[in-house]
Amino acid sequence: MSVVFDIGPLTAPVNRLQGVGPARAERLAHLLDRPSAAETRVFDILSHCPVGVIDRRHRVAVAEAPDRAIATLTVKVVRHENARRPGAPSRVIGEDGTGELAIVFFRGGEAWRLGNYPIGEWVRVSGLVEWWEGRPQIVHPDQFAKVEGPDAPFDARFGLEPIYPLTQGLTAGVLSGLVAAALEKIPDLPEWLDGPLVKREKWPTFAEAVAAIHRPEDAHDISPDAACRQRLAYDELLASQLALAIVRDRERNHRGRARRWDDAMIAAIEKSLPFSLTASQRLSLAEIAGDLAAEHRMIRLVQGDVGSGKTVVALLAAAMAAGDGGQTAMMAPTDLVARQHYETLSNILEPHGIRVRLLTGRITEAERAEAIAGLADGSVTIAVGTHALFQSAVTFRDLALVVVDEQHRFGVHQRMALSEKGPHSDLLVMTATPIPRTMVLAQFGDMDVSRLTDKPAGRQPVETRAVALTNIDAVIERLAAAVARGEKAYWVCPLVEDNEASELESAVNRHRILSKRVGDVVGLVHGKTPTAERERIMSAFKDGQIAVLVATTVVEVGVDVPDATIMVIEHAERFGLSQLHQLRGRVGRGAKASTCLLLYKAPLGAIARQRLDTMRATNDGFRIAEDDLKLRGEGEILGTRQSGAPSFRFADLEHHAALLAIASDDARLVVATDRNLERERGKALRALLTLFERRRAIERLRSG
Ligand code: ADP
Ligand code: MG
Repeated sequence: MSVVFDIGPLTAPVNRLQGVGPARAERLAHLLDRPSAAETRVFDILSHCPVGVIDRRHRVAVAEAPDRAIATLTVKVVRHENARRPGAPSRVIGEDGTGELAIVFFRGGEAWRLGNYPIGEWVRVSGLVEWWEGRPQIVHPDQFAKVEGPDAPFDARFGLEPIYPLTQGLTAGVLSGLVAAALEKIPDLPEWLDGPLVKREKWPTFAEAVAAIHRPEDAHDISPDAACRQRLAYDELLASQLALAIVRDRERNHRGRARRWDDAMIAAIEKSLPFSLTASQRLSLAEIAGDLAAEHRMIRLVQGDVGSGKTVVALLAAAMAAGDGGQTAMMAPTDLVARQHYETLSNILEPHGIRVRLLTGRITEAERAEAIAGLADGSVTIAVGTHALFQSAVTFRDLALVVVDEQHRFGVHQRMALSEKGPHSDLLVMTATPIPRTMVLAQFGDMDVSRLTDKPAGRQPVETRAVALTNIDAVIERLAAAVARGEKAYWVCPLVEDNEASELESAVNRHRILSKRVGDVVGLVHGKTPTAERERIMSAFKDGQIAVLVATTVVEVGVDVPDATIMVIEHAERFGLSQLHQLRGRVGRGAKASTCLLLYKAPLGAIARQRLDTMRATNDGFRIAEDDLKLRGEGEILGTRQSGAPSFRFADLEHHAALLAIASDDARLVVATDRNLERERGKALRALLTLFERRRAIERLRSG
C-alpha cells in the first residue's frame, strides 16, 4: 500500500488564500515572524496559537445582563434613537420582555442601522455589556445576527472565540477569517506518529488537533496541557529531534579517524601546567581521549560553570590530536577571548613543538597569509580564532579537532560549516552557560556530555550583595580602599538597548568619575576600543598597572584575570540572570575571597528582584540556569533564531519537557531502523520535517 498525500496546500504561500494581497501578506509575515511575505506559508497561519478565548456562551435575559462582562443577548428591536448632534452616539433599542437593551453606535448611518436592525425584528448581539443610566448597553457589538425569534439556535459565532496576538493593520476579524480559510486547506494526511503512542496519549490526528486549537470547545483547549496542543507540541518536537538525529547520523557516518598519540608527551605538557588538573577535568579528558582514539566521530559537549577550567581541557585535547599529526581549529566568541586562548595555548604548547596561530578579523594581512599557508601545508597545528576561521580561504591539511567555545553564541550551521573543513574531524563544544538537560536535547540532540562539576581547588564562593545605586558613593569609597590594599576590580556598565552611543557615554563617564576618586589606575574598554589598545589595557590589568577595569559587557565571555577579586555591576537590574552569573564568574578565580556588588536602581520590578535574590542565594550555575529558565522562558536561553537555535510555535519547554524526552528517543529509534526515511512511517515523517521546515535534515537525507 502506498500513501498518497500532498502537504503542498499547507506549505503554499499565504497569498493563495482568498483575500490575501501583497499588503496583507506583508502584515502576516510580520505578525508570524517570517523572513518575508513570500516565505509566509498557509501553515504559519495555523501555527499562530490563540492566547485566550472569549466566551460568548453567557446568554442572558436583559434584566440579568452582567456589568462589564461579555454576554450574548437576543432582543426584538423596538425603536431607533438617532444622534441629536454630531459626535453623539445613536442607539438601537431592543427588548426581550424583561427589560430594554441599548445597542450603541458611534459610526454608521441611519440607513445602515435600519437595514441591520429593522424595527419589529429579532436580533442577536454579543459584546461587552455595561450598565448605563439604569439599563444595559453594548457599544458596537462584536457579533451580530438577525434571528427568527428568541429561541433561534445559536451558531458558532456565539460560542467560544479564540483571541490571537495581532499586529497593526490586521484585525481579529480578518485573522479569524484567514484561519478559517487555512483550516479548509488541510489535506488528508497520513499519521506520522507512532500508533501506540497516539493511542496511549489519546491524541487527536494532526488535522483534528489543528482545528481544535482554532475552534476551542472550552477554555482548556488552548492550554498547553490540552490533548490537541500536546499533540502538536509533540509533532514539532519530533520534527526538531528527528532533524538533529538525521544530521548527527550523517555526521557520524562521515567516519572519524582513530587517533594515536604518545601519552608521555601529554603527560609532559600536563606537568608544565602551573596547577594540577581537577578530578572532573581528568574525567572529561579521559572521555575525550576515548572518543579521539575510537573510529567514530566525536560530538561532545563539555559543560562547566564559569571558572571551572574548560580551556585547559581543550588545550590537552588539541595536544592529543597534534600527537597524531592532526590539526585543531578553536573557535572563540569574541576577538578578545580568541587572543586570550591563543596566548594560553601558545605559551604552553609551543615549547613542546606545537605551533599555534591566531586567525581573527583583526590580525595583519601578513599574519593572516602566514597562518593560512601554515594551516594548509600542516606546519601550523592549531588555529585559534573567531568567525574568520569559517572563511573558505582557510583550509587544513588534516583537521582532526574542532573546538567551539561558548557554543550559545554560534549557530548549528556555523558549527557544521567548520567541521566540514575536515571530513573526519571530531567536535568538542564548550559551554559555560550551564544548560539544563532539556535544553541540551532541544539544541543538540543526543550529544555526548562531559561535565566539569568541581572547581579548581582553593576557590571560594563569591560573596554577592545587592546595593541600591543611591549608595554608589560609599561603594566607590570602599573600592578605593580595596585598590589601596592591592586588589583588582571590574566595573561593568550596562548595555543600553539599541543605543551604543549612550552606552559608551555611561562607560566613559564612569571611567572619569572613578579615575578622579581612585587615581590613574583605572582603565576603560568597550566595544569600540581598537584591538591594540584593548590588548594593552587587558595586559596592564593582568600585570597590575591597572587596578580597576571599567568595561561594557565585553568582559562577559571568557576573560581570565585570576587575581581580580571585585566585580561591580552597575544597573544589575537590566541584566539577565545567566549574564549576571557569567559576569560574576570573572572573579573568585584565585585563592583570595571575592565580592560581587550588584548595583540596582530602585524600585525593582518583581522579576529583577527575584534575579538579584537568586544571585545572592547561590553560586551554583545549574540552579541559576534553572531559575533563569523559569523567569525568562526557553526562547532567550536558547538564543535568537538567527543563531540557529530552535524556536517553537506549539511546544513550550516549560510544559512539554517530558514530550521532548520521548521525541528524542522516538527520533533515534526512527533513524536506527529507517535511516533514509523510506518506510511507510518514514515517508510520512518526511512530510512532518517539511512542515516544520527542517530543511537541513531533508538535504542531508537527499545527500545520503
Ligand atoms: P572557563 O571554564 O570559565 O573557561 P578557564 O578555562 O578560563 O575557565 O579557567 C579559569 C581559570 O582557572 C584560569 O586561570 C585557569 O588557568 C585556571 N585553572 C584551570 N584549571 C585549573 C586547575 N585544575 N587548578 C587551578 N586553576 C585552574
Ligand atoms: Mg572559557
